[in-house]
Amino acid sequence: MTENQLREQLVLFGQSLYARGYAHGSSGNLSARLPDGLLVTPTNSCLGRLDPAKISKLDKAGKHVAGDPPSKEGFLHLAMYEERASAQAIVHLHCTHCVAVSCLRHADPANVLPPITAYHVMRIGRLPLVPYYRPGDRALAEAVREKAKKHHAVLLANHGPVVAGKSLEDAVYNAEEMEETAKLHLLLTGRDARFLDAAQIADLEAHFPS
Ligand code: ZN
Repeated sequence: MTENQLREQLVLFGQSLYARGYAHGSSGNLSARLPDGLLVTPTNSCLGRLDPAKISKLDKAGKHVAGDPPSKEGFLHLAMYEERASAQAIVHLHCTHCVAVSCLRHADPANVLPPITAYHVMRIGRLPLVPYYRPGDRALAEAVREKAKKHHAVLLANHGPVVAGKSLEDAVYNAEEMEETAKLHLLLTGRDARFLDAAQIADLEAHFPS
């Protein structure tokens, strides 16, 4: 896909996520990997009204080279790309149910959403919680980097998800699946739910390797 096609895709998926309530105000940011760096949505931009020509371009070191100034959360994306060669796009959202789950006290911060459905297991798998840092703190990027060594999706405490994919479409679908699972998790809390067991998860992993 050419850089211009990727710019158009960022606009279309931004509109779609915003229209369906996955992003509000100027929250959330999207990025896509380029051979010589990455495209990332600009700082204070609304995902519902992106301009393809103004999307920020960074070089591989994270230096702003074109477009509007990048999202202040661009360094989260950079840390994920640096750790995961297969990541071609990243979605970061402040979507309601994921943020709600990110505010709960978790007995096991190494995996904060249960294996409710096969689709969550296939698209997300184990989801670690990254401790809280104030917005813009570079220590947050290092905390994401640490988890990204083993995970393509992480949940930032009291903040929201950072999710990579093999394409922008794949990253968006992964983020949507996580939000659905977070919603189901909250609906099922306090109920006698049955989740997938270890054998069922192993069977999925054998049939659908990531
Ligand atoms: Zn954020």
